Amino acid sequence: MTCPICKKPAHPDYRPFCSRRCADVDLGRWLSGSYAVPSDDPEDAERAAEELTRQPTKPH
Ligand SMILES: [Zn+2]
Repeated sequence: MTCPICKKPAHPDYRPFCSRRCADVDLGRWLSGSYAVPSDDPEDAERAAEELTRQPTKPH
């Protein structure tokens, strides 16, 4: 088994990674990756709601 981050042999304590550093790198990637996907939806919904409230402009 090799470390998916740096391709070095994995350490039994940090499988499948070679070190805690690489495990942290992967965790960070995973967190930022999973964060980016769902956070797109609320942002879009917020934008859509903002546009909806903006659209009915009251004629003066
Ligand atoms: Zn590594």
